[in-house]
Amino acid sequence: MKKIVVILTGGTIAMKIDPTLGAAIPSPIADELMNNVKAHIKGVYIEEREIFNIPSPHVDHEKMILIRDEVIKALNEEETIGVIVTHGTDTLEETAYYLDITIDNKKPIVVTGAMRNASELGYDGALNLTASIATCLNEESVGLGTLVVMNNEVHSAAQVTKTNTLSVNTFKSPEFGPLGIIDNDEVLYYRRERSINKCIIDCLEPKIALLKMASGIEGDIIDFYIDNNYKGIVIEALGRGNVPPKTVPSIKRAIDNKIPVVMVSRCSTGRVLGSYGYKGGGRELFSIGVINGGALPGQKVRIALMALIAANKNNSEIEEFFKI
Ligand code: ASP
Repeated sequence: MKKIVVILTGGTIAMKIDPTLGAAIPSPIADELMNNVKAHIKGVYIEEREIFNIPSPHVDHEKMILIRDEVIKALNEEETIGVIVTHGTDTLEETAYYLDITIDNKKPIVVTGAMRNASELGYDGALNLTASIATCLNEESVGLGTLVVMNNEVHSAAQVTKTNTLSVNTFKSPEFGPLGIIDNDEVLYYRRERSINKCIIDCLEPKIALLKMASGIEGDIIDFYIDNNYKGIVIEALGRGNVPPKTVPSIKRAIDNKIPVVMVSRCSTGRVLGSYGYKGGGRELFSIGVINGGALPGQKVRIALMALIAANKNNSEIEEFFKI
């Protein structure tokens, strides 16, 4: 019988309020969640595998690799028609993007979670998991790469981001919107995403820095990364891709030290480009060898750079990866 494998990793979807703390903590609720969902699903076997139960701020590169290993193992089982990963929402977009760029398989991979824990009224865990199963069952999901399903919307892993700290409607694709919706257990797709570049590698380089620019920032933090053996730096620059001028000598020093520096914008949407020619403007940055990261948010570029550097890619290969 065809099956969908649900890989449970933790997050609010697997939390309850601890009465002493009065705050949510990981809890053994997998059986309750899975029984509720299975009671609702017909015609496909659902198999769960809990690999850990941790909040997503505890997910590091080693945990991401473990998740990827489990996803690939499940995809390679012949009866599997789709794989779902349940995950904390704080870093869900990073793990989803990581799976997207490092796995080349047409079977749907869906990452989901919950914004309300199992002690709260309106717990959205069973709803999001059921919608994820509907997404795996839909033939149009085949070949779309890794998807994120939350609040009855289907998003591409490359586009989606968490936009609100509390709302169940927090996951959005700010530039182009969701790929589709789930209505009454049926998935309706409205658009397709262009295929994204892959970097198939089973390890990650953890020493990649992510730095957000702000008015008046100087180069000292960049010098710290250079002096502490960082292997790559992602800069979320200002606007169209500009930085305060006092950071430029340190950016140049990083590049001279063979540390790739990839630039995106701290704006929530839009590409960076060398539109400005003043000191610290994009034109100067690209002329000294800064790599254009396009329209991705810094946290996803960092994941990509962790994979690209682990795969020993050179600067022009890194540049090629970020071109759409
Ligand atoms: N802090 C939680 C986590 O990421 C939030 C959630 O899962 O919604 O694990």
